[in-house]
Amino acid sequence: MVNYPPEYCPYCGGELELVEGPTVYRCDDCDDWVFHNAVLGGGAVVVDDERILLVEDFRGPGTWKIPEGVPEIPESPREGVARELEEETNLTVDPADLVYLYDVGKEVDEDMFRMHVCYAVDRSETTGPLEAGDDATDARFWTPEEFEASDNVLRDMPNPEETRSWDIGLDLLRDQAKEALERETSYADLFEPHIRK
Ligand SMILES: [Zn+2]
Repeated sequence: MVNYPPEYCPYCGGELELVEGPTVYRCDDCDDWVFHNAVLGGGAVVVDDERILLVEDFRGPGTWKIPEGVPEIPESPREGVARELEEETNLTVDPADLVYLYDVGKEVDEDMFRMHVCYAVDRSETTGPLEAGDDATDARFWTPEEFEASDNVLRDMPNPEETRSWDIGLDLLRDQAKEALERETSYADLFEPHIRK
């Protein structure tokens, strides 16, 4: 999901003027500012030893991606990712067990911007049999070599060094996820001991 640049003032319906692209707009009629901000999305890299969990996108047979989606109000990013993971793969995870992996900002289409935050989690932290859900036509663990040898392609692979490129490679993504998990800096580790219940 992405959002289109605004054309009309959400307060009075007047036409907006672009003041400083691509973010800042202004309405002359009510003398107010309107901001065009990126939509936040999130994903989960679930690793099981040498394998990584991918789902087949319902929009295109043969196109796979890591489980991901857009948080719904009032979810936190990690809560949204946990819900999307369950919807797409039937695996449940405590959002607090997701470990930060990376975040990127990207122009996904002309004038449409997305921020993406991705978490890593080990398969052993998830429960439930793996099953493709409503938003996915298939879900399975792949080794990078198996996927490479198949006829399938990846969608939306991030490269933190280059926001317009989306091909970091599955093997690197898996290795970085495993490294992040070894550091064990989940929300639960960092914050839960200090939160008064
Ligand atoms: Zn207005």
